[in-house]
Amino acid sequence: MKVPFLDFQAPYLELKAELDDAYARVMASGWYILGEEVAAFEAEFAAYCQTKYCIGVGNGLEALHLILRAMEIGAGDEVIVPANTYIASWLAVSQVGATPVAVEPDEHTYNIDPSLIEAAITARTKAIMAVHLYGQPADMDAINEIAKRHNLQVIEDAAQSHGARYKQRRTGGLGDAAGFSFYPSKNLGAIGDAGAVTTNNAELAERIRLLRNYGSRVKYENEIPGYNSRLDELQAAFLRVKLAKLDEWNARRVSVADRYLATLGKNPHLTLPVVPDWADPVWHLFVVRHPNRYNLEQHLRQNGVATLIHYPTPPHLSAAYCQPEMPKGSLPITERISNQIISLPMGAHLRDLQLDIAIATLLEDI
Ligand SMILES: *Cc1c(COP(=O)(O)O)cnc(C)c1O
Repeated sequence: MKVPFLDFQAPYLELKAELDDAYARVMASGWYILGEEVAAFEAEFAAYCQTKYCIGVGNGLEALHLILRAMEIGAGDEVIVPANTYIASWLAVSQVGATPVAVEPDEHTYNIDPSLIEAAITARTKAIMAVHLYGQPADMDAINEIAKRHNLQVIEDAAQSHGARYKQRRTGGLGDAAGFSFYPSKNLGAIGDAGAVTTNNAELAERIRLLRNYGSRVKYENEIPGYNSRLDELQAAFLRVKLAKLDEWNARRVSVADRYLATLGKNPHLTLPVVPDWADPVWHLFVVRHPNRYNLEQHLRQNGVATLIHYPTPPHLSAAYCQPEMPKGSLPITERISNQIISLPMGAHLRDLQLDIAIATLLEDI
């Protein structure tokens, strides 16, 4: 039996009737951009995230980009970002002309280490972007406290954390604004590209609503220079169907993670993720460390178990950012992590037998 890294067909088959119905409903409506489905999804997702507002946009990168634009962060400004993240968190900052300033992670949770943030703040710093990496919330109270002291905005990159809780509160409402991605592999995934911003700030929400639609509230009246970054009706209709399943699917991910955590400690070469007691992660990814991960990857592959690496190259070492201020060795914790991590099969549709095979193979002393 093969153990896929992630199964895209099973969620469709589970919800086939509802998804096909959503498709037929939108097709028959004759209205495909900014209509009832988007408005309904925005209301439902805001309620889910315990925020006042949700604005559907084109994708996760655009969500972060439009938040920064709406906050009027731009050339000459700096934004604190985690060194250990997907490159999109950094790219959003670069797209508005600001400079991403990297802060190293906590070596156990992989999230930004709040105790290192203050040393990175300068007179140009405008915001802190926290990423809830792998579905585990960052330490938001510590981050918000620093931001308050220095008068900074707080942005959550919640692209991997739909439904995760920090001290009982859902991610998406823990800072000034949050960016979500509904890329198909995310915990809440569309059938294509999609994203959203959540916030409790009415003014920010209104500005993002304008920015996503050509700076326009009324057709052909353009108040500010905007963009075209809209969530479309079809994706919104699919997302509404899947949102109703999100808690159940996240719970299944938690039970997969619980089994990994309860069993894999028996292999002394593996370092397992650490969950602080205030965090309820949703396990977008289950990432372990191994001193010789390519041997482990090969052994798993030979036994039909697929793995991936998230991410093999940290942003500062990618060709996109390679620059003299951030040479190899300049962010040693991030670099050490990125040389050892490997992501195990994880998802709401991983079957018990597949999980048994993955665990048995992982426990062979490689
Ligand atoms: C997926 C992801 C994004 C970007 O989302 P897209 O929808 O692909 O643009 C941003 N940040 C993180 C942490 C992500 O995982």
